[in-house]
Amino acid sequence: MLSNSLVELDRAHLIHPVASWRGHEAAGVRILSSGKGAVVRDATGRELIDGFAGLWCVNAGYGQESVVAAATEQMRDLCYATGYFGIGSDPAIRLAARLADHAPGDLNHVYFTLGGSDAVDSTVRFVRYYWHSRGKPQKDQFITLEYGYHGSSTVGAGLTALPAFHAGFGVPYDWQHKIPSPYPYRNPLGSDVEAMIAQSKAQLLAKIEELGGADRVAAFYAEPIQGSGGVIVPPKGWLKAMRDLCAKNDILFVADEVITAFGRTGPLFACSEEGIVPDMITTAKGLTSAYVPMGAVFMSEHVYQTIADGAGQAAVGHGYTYSAHPVSAAVGLAVLDLYEGSLLDNGRRMGDRLQAGLQSLSDHPLVGDVRGRGMLAAIELVTDKDKKTQLPAASLPATRIFERAWEAGLVARAFAWGVIGYAPPLCCTEAEIDAIVERTRIVLDQTLEDPDVR
Ligand code: PMP
Repeated sequence: MLSNSLVELDRAHLIHPVASWRGHEAAGVRILSSGKGAVVRDATGRELIDGFAGLWCVNAGYGQESVVAAATEQMRDLCYATGYFGIGSDPAIRLAARLADHAPGDLNHVYFTLGGSDAVDSTVRFVRYYWHSRGKPQKDQFITLEYGYHGSSTVGAGLTALPAFHAGFGVPYDWQHKIPSPYPYRNPLGSDVEAMIAQSKAQLLAKIEELGGADRVAAFYAEPIQGSGGVIVPPKGWLKAMRDLCAKNDILFVADEVITAFGRTGPLFACSEEGIVPDMITTAKGLTSAYVPMGAVFMSEHVYQTIADGAGQAAVGHGYTYSAHPVSAAVGLAVLDLYEGSLLDNGRRMGDRLQAGLQSLSDHPLVGDVRGRGMLAAIELVTDKDKKTQLPAASLPATRIFERAWEAGLVARAFAWGVIGYAPPLCCTEAEIDAIVERTRIVLDQTLEDPDVR
């Protein structure tokens, strides 16, 4: 009864992100009411394993009492302190210091935002400011990857490579450029790591040339694993090769770790296991495990000092009311305690189990590729394994895949082109990981019988 009236109210008043508005009106909302660990409960009381941690963000799992207590206490003590006018708060300062300690290399400076999109936006401004400070304002061209996702602000949407984020919105801007993604499954060189890396390097150099040389190029952005593009895992060594190529050409390298950081692929930062130190890293999601919104930009000593020197006594005019929000920071500290406790280790063990479990589905007639690292994974479905034919009928089978998974008691992401994405909470148990795999098998078998998948 209550849930029926909520469905109507939702239809009438709540606009949903990245949705077909008409499609959503027709389908109606699925309301989640509570969660504990890796399990969420819908408004009818049905329990599902959240194999996607909300939106790759509830890394610590639902209902962590220490996080709830930290937020409550901070709200009681001091609900807000601005970062403007030289003011600060205890949790924000301590969180910045602890995170800087964990961040790769000399990424010692932290700028807190509200989420990932404004973290990316902030880096675009910092990159521009940096080149002004170095007396090279003509370095104003940005390069990202096809299949890349860098948020939904207008600037970020232009860096993003998903067509739905461009059409009708007037982006990408003419200073935003893409090069092909390192997508092993769909690249004829896919099994040759060295050849793929050489190809990407050549593509980046060609793009730099096309834009008038390195003296025009400000920055290159890459996700260590491309998330929203379909969990595309570049070959080992690719990230380092691209980072080095940027350094050689005096181009800033920004790693967008909004998905990959905070244990998603194993360590707190995916860049650490790649052995690279970018000029800046963007994060969000797992930073607060999504209990409250927060993002962060990590900035190298060199970039920070250059911008600070360039500005001198003038303000670096970039900020939000909720930059370094004390409640978000208190949550961040509590979540960091969990990571430093047993959570990262559990995530690593469960990640191995998840990858092995999904690999065991490889012989299914619909499974073309299984890929991922740690608690980030995907399977790509095809109707012909030799030809790697994508699922037909655009997004229809994908929508059905999502619905079938839900019916089987699993929340998983179904990408429009037939990729199923996984990013479970790091607190999953072995039984929950096994259930994710088994429920996926049910979905695959049902999808094989779908008359549109032929
Ligand atoms: N960058 C990446 C790599 C992302 O995956 C996302 C969100 N999925 C963003 C930026 C944007 O983050 P938000 O949705 O918090 O604005």
